[in-house]
Amino acid sequence: MTALLDVEELEVFYGASQALFGVNLSVAEGQAVALMGRNGMGKTTTIHALCRMLPIRGGHVRFAGRDITALPSFRAARLGIGLVPEGRRCFPNLTVTENLIAAARPGPWTLRRVRDFFPRLAEREGQYAATLSGGEQQMLAIGRALMTNPRLLVLDEATEGLAPVIRREIWAAIAALKAQGLSILLVDKTLSEILPLADSCVVLERGRSIWRGPPGDVTEEVKRRYLGL
Ligand code: ATP
Repeated sequence: MTALLDVEELEVFYGASQALFGVNLSVAEGQAVALMGRNGMGKTTTIHALCRMLPIRGGHVRFAGRDITALPSFRAARLGIGLVPEGRRCFPNLTVTENLIAAARPGPWTLRRVRDFFPRLAEREGQYAATLSGGEQQMLAIGRALMTNPRLLVLDEATEGLAPVIRREIWAAIAALKAQGLSILLVDKTLSEILPLADSCVVLERGRSIWRGPPGDVTEEVKRRYLGL
């Protein structure tokens, strides 16, 4: 299977301080990959680097057959990397519809399709994003990423801080997107929720990818050794 995203020996610095020392991962077309690791191990940094929001000091990022290592972030988004950032980050003073329209790019995902996909957003179309519940804001953040018509959806802690019933709703939506053929890279700490969705897993430790394999190989030993569980 061809890799849609290929990250090779990624090295990233914050000023003089090195955060990534060699991260390798790939996402095949139509697959979901879970990026795991304890706090501070480099998951968000990896995502920000491959979305081209941080300079890359070493290694390569290839997306859809192109080397995007030095590409500015707006061009990476145009190529089809849709980020659902940690903390959701919708425009609080825009309505649901305005938030969605602001992100729109041509493709099969239109305002109508996003509203059909998340009926709760349709019900709240005129409401300011700031007044939505956490779960609704998360739906809006995913909806915004879909409006960019991505080939790869990147989700950073999509269910952080949400109640269990809402988490299930968000995971069901992500599973439905995967079933529709969207390629997905996800970061989350709740293994019981991401493993059923993932086709493969990558574990980061101190800025390096140190383990990868199918979810069935994430044994108690792997959890204890690399994830502190
Ligand atoms: P968490 O699960 O807590 O979100 P993470 O695995 O996403 O953690 P990162 O946020 O990528 O980890 O952090 C990786 C390393 O980079 C950490 O040592 C962190 O302190 C450092 N780091 C992250 N952001 C910055 C920043 N803006 N400036 C300096 N160092 C940073």
